[in-house]
Amino acid sequence: MDKLQTIRKIVQSAFFIKFVILSVFLSSFFCLCIFGYIEQFILLGSIYFVPVVIVISLLTLIFGRLFCGWMCPLGFIFDLTYKLRVKLSRLKKLPEVPKNIHNKLIYLKYVILILFIILTYYLATYTYCSVCPIGALTNLSGTLLSFIILIGVILLGFIYPMAFCRYLCPIGALLGIFSIKPLFKLKLNNKCVNCKLCERKCPVQINLTKNIDQTECIRCFECVSSCKKDAIDFKPFFKR
Ligand code: SF4
Ligand code: SF4
Repeated sequence: MDKLQTIRKIVQSAFFIKFVILSVFLSSFFCLCIFGYIEQFILLGSIYFVPVVIVISLLTLIFGRLFCGWMCPLGFIFDLTYKLRVKLSRLKKLPEVPKNIHNKLIYLKYVILILFIILTYYLATYTYCSVCPIGALTNLSGTLLSFIILIGVILLGFIYPMAFCRYLCPIGALLGIFSIKPLFKLKLNNKCVNCKLCERKCPVQINLTKNIDQTECIRCFECVSSCKKDAIDFKPFFKR
């Protein structure tokens, strides 16, 4: 594992401990779920979390979906899951969903985002929190259903890397909206020899050599780590 991925693993582990373990023993104060915040705002009018939302939003506007690749506890679990699959099956290339299906499915998470906001408002209850897979790992909102969903999405992530993050996560959808035009972008430079090694390692199936979809990129930098030509930059969009 290179230095960048080692640092990412340390940061992910720290957030996982903060998010899950502290939530189990202490309180929802340690929960960083933006959707949970939205539900609290709709149901209770709470705004105590606004500073956290501002920080995560700014982070996303500047760097893209860094939260997904570095801070989300579910992202951490799915990351381990697909890497276990790669190890066990000795895969040289990550499994891909057929492109025509993938290109449609990435919009499903936006439908889920809107649907849960409407359901929370009209049913006046925590609709997403009660099914959120991470709820199963904490004492915040875990239900039998959230536990079953957690097992289901882990299995899904074993077959298709980060499938939950790509297609189902409403937080990914929300952060995707904030990262339509991030300040820092991933770009290929002129050292690229079009070997496509980066594409084979991208867990969310981004065609780096054609078009880097910044809204789908979870900033895991697996592509950067895999490129042997140092041909992928991460810099402000105005820098050439
Ligand atoms: S791995 Fe590097 S050199 Fe190969 S296609 Fe990707 S960016 Fe280009
Ligand atoms: S493009 Fe690179 S940083 Fe973005 S998700 Fe794919 S591998 Fe990770």
